Amino acid sequence: MHHFHYRNDELYCEDVPLRTIARDAGTPCYVYSSATLQHHFRVFDSAFEGMPHITCYSVKANSNLAILAIFAALGGGADIVSGGELFRALRAGIPADRIVYSGVGKSRDEIDYALRENIMMFNIESIQELDAINDRAAALNTRARIALRVNPDVDPKTHPYISTGLKKNKFGIDIEEALKTYARAREMSHIEILGIDCHIGSQLTDTAPFIEALKRLKLLAGRLKESGISIRYLDLGGGLGIPYHDELPPPPREYADAVTRELGDMSCTLILEPGRVIVGNAGLLLTQVLYEKKTPSKQFMIVDAGMNDLIRPSFYGAYHHIQPVVHKDRESLVVDVVGPICESSDFIAKDRELPVMKPGELMAVMSAGAYGFCMASNYNSRPRAAEVLVKENQFFVTRKRESREDLVLNESVPGFIGEMAR
Ligand SMILES: *Cc1c(COP(=O)(O)O)cnc(C)c1O
Repeated sequence: MHHFHYRNDELYCEDVPLRTIARDAGTPCYVYSSATLQHHFRVFDSAFEGMPHITCYSVKANSNLAILAIFAALGGGADIVSGGELFRALRAGIPADRIVYSGVGKSRDEIDYALRENIMMFNIESIQELDAINDRAAALNTRARIALRVNPDVDPKTHPYISTGLKKNKFGIDIEEALKTYARAREMSHIEILGIDCHIGSQLTDTAPFIEALKRLKLLAGRLKESGISIRYLDLGGGLGIPYHDELPPPPREYADAVTRELGDMSCTLILEPGRVIVGNAGLLLTQVLYEKKTPSKQFMIVDAGMNDLIRPSFYGAYHHIQPVVHKDRESLVVDVVGPICESSDFIAKDRELPVMKPGELMAVMSAGAYGFCMASNYNSRPRAAEVLVKENQFFVTRKRESREDLVLNESVPGFIGEMAR
């Protein structure tokens, strides 16, 4: 459920017409519904209410401070993958003792930062990382709480770029190797073992791979118990999918029920790291049609949002539903919706049947709340778009559009270059 709907043939976010937002904040711009964000967080979190659990929102899906602050207010924790995300999560008011840190390439500097902030747990992705964290914890005279991220080798049946739990992926520690690594971790002076972690991929539309992974984690937990290592936290990662087009992912309740059933009487606290399922359908990208262009083989609709603003179609061939902001009876046409970037891969939709939208008209690119703005770049020296949060009949610019000055803020021209132009 989301709060984007037509009223008198005009598209609204909650009680604000998108036309008003475009007029005030300009285009392209991301628009998020606070009611939808809250609703999605609550639905997900309450699906697990029968189990001790922590919902650690995956910051990388959408890291806008205002959005993180909403989840902080609702009692959420955070799953982070960098020092920058730790900074954001803390700044937004998420308590350090509800933050888990994943990722294969944590630097010394990032490890120190997380240790000093005393985060809940590191999800360790390799033996060398385990050694490094033990060393840094010793140097800082503290103990690092950890889980091993294991690679359970299950196929999440999703796009290859977003599958992470297969043997050939770079993530996690091979589940067969995990026992040895836990034994090693136990001997370390500055490591405290808390749990087992996995994250098998993103945009999963079936519970079966999750349950398969959970079975393997349970098996591992059983073996660890035999060797005297008790597991208090079971981190199942994120990955639950959303409907972009005609997918039918299980609702959070169904996912939670399947997980709870499989856990049986295993007593541990669950950690969940949902990203996309919470924010994906809570946001859209608002863009304006600039030109229509007909070539001998194609009809193009050129819009003011490019792959630098929303890279998912170019990167994963992802589908995003497109709607005109003003709904009226009109012809439809098969078009490519493309941006201004000088790359042929710069498209939002290909060979899509859409109502004809004229230059100056606004278009909404739906389901853009996850992996949208946070993957944006300045490619082609395009200032990054504004982000707007709607609450009922009010809206707030939660990240202002970058200026041209912002583009060169951190650049400098060394003096010798000036001398060259004598
Ligand atoms: C990306 C990621 C998530 C969130 O994935 P979604 O598909 O957005 O739910 C959770 N945990 C880890 C470790 C991740 O890398």
